[in-house]
Amino acid sequence: MSLEDFPRYPLLFGPSPVHRLDRLTAHLGGAQIWAKREDCSSGLAYGGNKTRKLEYLVPDIVEQGADTLVTLGGYQSNHTRQVAAVAAHLGLEAVLVQERWVDWPDPLNDRVGNIMLSRIMGAEVRLDPAGFGIGIKSSWEQALEDVRRRGGTPYGIPAGASDHRLGGLGFARWAAEVRQHEQELGVFFDTIVVCAVTGSTQAGMIAGFALQDRPRRVIGVDASAEIEATRSQVARIARSTADLLGLRRDLTDDEITVLEGWAGERYGVPVESTLAAIRLTGRLEGVILDPVYEGKSMAGLVDLVTNGDIPAESNVLYAHLGGQPALNAYSALFTD
Ligand SMILES: *Cc1c(COP(=O)(O)O)cnc(C)c1O
Repeated sequence: MSLEDFPRYPLLFGPSPVHRLDRLTAHLGGAQIWAKREDCSSGLAYGGNKTRKLEYLVPDIVEQGADTLVTLGGYQSNHTRQVAAVAAHLGLEAVLVQERWVDWPDPLNDRVGNIMLSRIMGAEVRLDPAGFGIGIKSSWEQALEDVRRRGGTPYGIPAGASDHRLGGLGFARWAAEVRQHEQELGVFFDTIVVCAVTGSTQAGMIAGFALQDRPRRVIGVDASAEIEATRSQVARIARSTADLLGLRRDLTDDEITVLEGWAGERYGVPVESTLAAIRLTGRLEGVILDPVYEGKSMAGLVDLVTNGDIPAESNVLYAHLGGQPALNAYSALFTD
């Protein structure tokens, strides 16, 4: 099968926009830096990378006759907010298990930003004190069971929509979009930089680019602070997605690059390099990054471009995956 054979329900305006980051490029003095913007490519509750993934889950949801989407994430999960938006858009219910993935002291952590948006959109938000983990949890099983018991038909979506047969397809399609941009712009993005946590964003890209004829580097920057788990999840989903799309060779290990060094000690807790990257991108470009994901991947890009690991001749495409609503729960970081 090829990508065109999988049904897709459009949730984006079209291809996400691509543009140069000229002032950041000049400031770093190395490779040419561009961004492709998943944060402003949909009209559904600020969008983000999960919205693109969900385009390929919706036909399955409809086919199974589900009336309630059940998913999980941290208190400030972007993913659960995007599931709530898609549920509202489709006229379905949403049950969101929101766990205490981040030990972050902001007193409004469970009230502002993403979680507030989910409540506005009518989702049932269940706060659960469980800690960080991208696996399947009993609270999630419980939520599925509760929906069934009240006569509903639940559709379970794993964290980040990653551990799902179709979870990698959205970003395989992103790779095809990039090819299209390149033909229009007359550039070749030899290096992609993308944040990785639950894995199917980078994994989908790897699978999608593997189907093209010209190799390139897809550099994942771990933001989970659990590098081995992230690496194995990306590798597994990249291989299963490549398989699903009929790639007739095995992905090699060097096609699967997830780097550590910018996550700090914990998922969801920014470190100095995260805040520096957020301020730099904000001040030079007017582009906003969040402290959980994109600030960390941008910190990686800044270092890799500055130290020449990404050479000056390169054209780098930074995948901006969204996430800004979480900033509201981190106000103490930006009071000066
Ligand atoms: C979920 C998310 C990521 C990580 O994507 P995965 O597919 O989970 O690896 C990165 N950035 C933002 C803003 C996200 O919401």
